[in-house]
Amino acid sequence: MSINVVSDLPQELQLALNRAQETNLRQLTPLYNRMEEFAENDVVSLLAAIGQVPEARELFDVAITEMQEVPRPVANRVELLIIGGGLHAAIFASTYYRLTGVKPLVIEERDRTGGIFDLAERETFFLNSRNRREGNALVPGTEGPLNTIVNGYLQPSMMSGLEYQTNVDMAFPIRVNLALCADVITGMPVTSLDLPIADGDLIVNLGEAAPVEADNVIIATGVGEPKTEGMTADRRVITFNEFLQRFGFRDDPFPLQGLNRVAVVGAKDSGNVVVEYLLGQGPTTASSVAALDYVERIDWYDQKALTKEAFEDANRSRYKGIGRYMPRVGQDDYYYRVQPIPGKVIQTFTEDGGVRVRTQLESGEFKNSELVYDLVVFCIGFNDQANQLLGPPEDFEDAFQDVFNSDLKLVVAKKLEGVNLYKVGPCADLQVTDQERIDTPVLGQIPENSAAVFRYADRTAKLCEMIVTGDV
Ligand SMILES: Cc1cc2nc3c(=O)[nH]c(=O)nc-3n(C[C@H](O)[C@H](O)[C@H](O)COP(=O)(O)OP(=O)(O)OC[C@H]3O[C@@H](n4cnc5c(N)ncnc54)[C@H](O)[C@@H]3O)c2cc1C
Repeated sequence: MSINVVSDLPQELQLALNRAQETNLRQLTPLYNRMEEFAENDVVSLLAAIGQVPEARELFDVAITEMQEVPRPVANRVELLIIGGGLHAAIFASTYYRLTGVKPLVIEERDRTGGIFDLAERETFFLNSRNRREGNALVPGTEGPLNTIVNGYLQPSMMSGLEYQTNVDMAFPIRVNLALCADVITGMPVTSLDLPIADGDLIVNLGEAAPVEADNVIIATGVGEPKTEGMTADRRVITFNEFLQRFGFRDDPFPLQGLNRVAVVGAKDSGNVVVEYLLGQGPTTASSVAALDYVERIDWYDQKALTKEAFEDANRSRYKGIGRYMPRVGQDDYYYRVQPIPGKVIQTFTEDGGVRVRTQLESGEFKNSELVYDLVVFCIGFNDQANQLLGPPEDFEDAFQDVFNSDLKLVVAKKLEGVNLYKVGPCADLQVTDQERIDTPVLGQIPENSAAVFRYADRTAKLCEMIVTGDV
């Protein structure tokens, strides 16, 4: 196996490629040979092979993390700066690099890139979008698989043939493409933005480094921070993001140990993946000991579907396995582990060695939970943080205007009037239009899909093209 490496591959990654080959040659060779049939060059074939061999992937992953850590010098002036190191940063950076040969500066506040798909160190949830072409040519990004890093070198679909891939299958290619196509600084939050005076540049203020001036700034901060309403301070009361971090921790082989009764608050996608995980339907719970680390009872708050049948009717096929553990119509003596409980949780409190929750029912009545829980997981949505970078959010709510792209015939991003400042991906919060609902009925039926990769991926790449060609 001989690899021709692209000329400007960072030295740290070149070394990691060599080491991965030295230590895992036997596993990598057949994968590499197969990948070579369709990947665009030798480096991509090798990276795709590395992504499929856990030891090699970990080695390369560590090299990426170390390469991007602070303290490192940060340029004081750049053409293009991207805030956030998730999927949309990877799409933007890959497109920009392919079109201009210039690597944009990416600033990520966590100590790793990868965004929401990388919050857990290992496989913790299955994606809700299929790793298959969906066949609707009117949906941006559906020429190929749905989970596409447009213009990226390494694609999630090269990681496995699973119908629903894991968060890590998505996170690794995001991390690799950013490492190849951007100059990334991790562990560094963007704290605020100063708007240009006259024709000056935007000033990006950073946590512990001098501000950076930039011609163009792209905000790609995703869905934002988890909402915490009703949560009280107790290590057993956690958000969805904390759940991913705790249960996706690589060194803990028995993540469910000591959990008998768990309350999950919220019944959208994040609530669904938490319940799957607790039931042993997630990708990693295989490492726990089912006879010992067994969650006996999951009380699912704000779950309006009260039976298996109602749950299956209300949810896409991806989540139907959860229904097997829910009460069944006409079978009162059926054993079920998941108890749906309507009503909003407004408060948690510590009691009898566990945590009790207080709900408000639709009638306005308040009720304390019968059970005391070992863990309460809040999955009640996210608060967009993007506008806060500019000052009080309400001052800028209406100042961002739609950027329309005539090729896609869609609004692709938001732009601050008169300034080279853009919001891309879910933080742009582009409303689903009537035409989109006609073209893609699933967007009307499943509102959570409005943040999906398939909806925004092509838009972000198009915005990049427009900026490079001066069409915006
Ligand atoms: C639990 C969950 C599961 C999902 N699953 C799917 C799925 O299966 N399929 C699908 O199509 N879509 C899914 N989505 C939607 C998903 O949000 C988008 O598809 C996509 O991840 C958004 O990418 P992004 O780059 O905009 O945001 P993210 O991936 O969230 O990345 C944003 C990054 O910005 C960083 N950041 C934020 N603020 C700052 C700051 N001030 N300074 C520096 N860095 C900052 C964050 O740390 C983060 O790394 C899911 C969403 C959630 C919440």
